[in-house]
Amino acid sequence: MAVPISQMWTVATYVLGQKLKGRERYPLVLMLEPLFRCNLACAGCGKVQYPPHILKKNLSPAECFAAVEECGAPMVSIPGGEPLLHPQIVEIVEGLVARKKYVYLCTNALELKKRLPEFTPSKYLTFSVHLDGQREHHDFSVCREGGYDIAVEGVREAVKRGFRVTTNTTLFDGADANSVRAFFDEVMSMGVEGIVLSPGYTYDKAPDQKHFLGRARSRRLFRAILSNRKKSWKFNMSPLFLEFLMGKRSYKCTPWGSPAYNIFGWQKPCYLLQDGYVDTFQELMNLTDWDGYGTESGNPKCANCMVSCGYEPTAVDHGFGSLNGFLGMVKATLFNKYEDRGALDLLNKPAQGGHGTLVQISEPVEREVEELRA
Ligand code: SF4
Ligand code: SF4
Repeated sequence: MAVPISQMWTVATYVLGQKLKGRERYPLVLMLEPLFRCNLACAGCGKVQYPPHILKKNLSPAECFAAVEECGAPMVSIPGGEPLLHPQIVEIVEGLVARKKYVYLCTNALELKKRLPEFTPSKYLTFSVHLDGQREHHDFSVCREGGYDIAVEGVREAVKRGFRVTTNTTLFDGADANSVRAFFDEVMSMGVEGIVLSPGYTYDKAPDQKHFLGRARSRRLFRAILSNRKKSWKFNMSPLFLEFLMGKRSYKCTPWGSPAYNIFGWQKPCYLLQDGYVDTFQELMNLTDWDGYGTESGNPKCANCMVSCGYEPTAVDHGFGSLNGFLGMVKATLFNKYEDRGALDLLNKPAQGGHGTLVQISEPVEREVEELRA
């Protein structure tokens, strides 16, 4: 496992503390979205389709800090939008690090290399760089030719400057398991701390609706990718969540594990769905009909979801909150190579689907971003 011991200790003691307090529902990672605008327009993105007056808005540092205090989660993920476009992102990150929160700043890294001198390396700060696979796959996924090379430059510079860096990969239907495995070799050779993976969620606002993975196809794909693992691959995520993706474990969603706060307030019920907003974290916890969410609920919006923000908190709770889970985590981390002949056969089959020709849409998007900044 690539997560440093100090971070694991913080999370483990936090989970045990919540159990001792008898807290049935507790947050693990705050998904703090300080803005929605971005300098890309990825086909699978459900965040950047807002009208211009919404895309212009930012959360202030004070609003970010208040949300973090109110929530109390030990980790804060800052997605967006593109956080590096926020005019006060350095102040926000510094404030969270001062509060000893483990911060994952999620970036497409188009501006990372240029902005790095403004940040200070810390065990509390990780740049989580959006890379959706090898060059061709990534550029297709983010609809931007050359996006991979720019992001990789940012990754290398961040590693050189002593920052914690992970890659963050969303996989869609047609993903080529062999190419993803080769991509793991590539990113590990760049010196990153670990890899983060998730299947894409079927956002109803995303322009490309055809390439989201159903549950059975997700399990098949992740089994092919994650079985027969190389020792050199490190994952910055719960090993039990990876087993869930491979179809080796069955977990229910924990939507309150990764609560989302953005310019509209606290989002019900999770980072992915927008079933209304409330003003306070307590209202989110008390007023959300939690039984109406998760695959078992029969809610069609949750039917195909296996996304990390819903299911990784379940895996972490299991791993640190029970002896059985803890032993499973130790076994998965230290002893399991996931040898699987059937998975090797899957690698020999051609990838289903695949993608067409890259459509270059970066220039209009960059113009729009410039207009929004003006
Ligand atoms: S990088 Fe892509 S997925 Fe991320 S916020 Fe921007 S458009 Fe959306
Ligand atoms: S199953 Fe997915 S979409 Fe549904 S509540 Fe959980 S995380 Fe959200």
